[in-house]
Amino acid sequence: MRLRNKPWAREKIAAHPQYVVPNPEEHKGRWDDVFGNHHPLYIEVGTGKGQFITEMAKAHPEINFIGIELYESVIVTALDRLIEADLPNLKLLNADAKNVADYFAKGDVDRVYLNFSDPWPKKRHEKRRLVHESFLKLYEAIMPEGGEIHFKTDNQGLFEYSLKSYSEYGLLLTYVSLDLHSSDFEGNIMTEYEEKFSAKGHRIYRSEAKFR
Ligand code: SAM
Repeated sequence: MRLRNKPWAREKIAAHPQYVVPNPEEHKGRWDDVFGNHHPLYIEVGTGKGQFITEMAKAHPEINFIGIELYESVIVTALDRLIEADLPNLKLLNADAKNVADYFAKGDVDRVYLNFSDPWPKKRHEKRRLVHESFLKLYEAIMPEGGEIHFKTDNQGLFEYSLKSYSEYGLLLTYVSLDLHSSDFEGNIMTEYEEKFSAKGHRIYRSEAKFR
């Protein structure tokens, strides 16, 4: 993701606490109060400019969604989308995924979406991959037994690494597509990166895995 310096982004985020939740650690174990219902909670880690999570929230009002994005300059576009759509079942967090266990208690989150996560191809950066064992441990700490990770990428190396990482961790693989757009999978909601890379002819890989 190319980052542009947007000095006004921090101010805009702070002005919309109803959409970008400040101090998420204060809601640990109590996200139902934030949404005002007991619906399941799905999060996207590395939500980028928010196309996927906004369209998911529109399509599934019976689910609560949270998009987590590290960079202010990127999440501010997701915020614009959310201001426009004004969805009661979607919140954003300007936060680092490595801190998710500070924000969510065991069982708070029912599903984690990872879409086009940065591949970090160098071996010495392996621990930064969002499907590395250390991140799987974090996701397990915030989900109940049976919690799911849904992953899409155009990066074959990262996809293969994710399958190995899941298998070594003991996750149950319940869905794999090596070419999502030629498969019979229904209801796919495209992310920004998915649109960009599939337009260039890249194949899209997709998996679903479950903690047991
Ligand atoms: N999911 C979007 C899509 O498919 O269009 C964006 C994909 S982009 C390649 C990856 C995004 O993940 C970037 O916006 C990046 O800032 C974010 N990201 C990477 N590491 C993160 C972390 N540790 N915590 C939160 N966001 C992260």
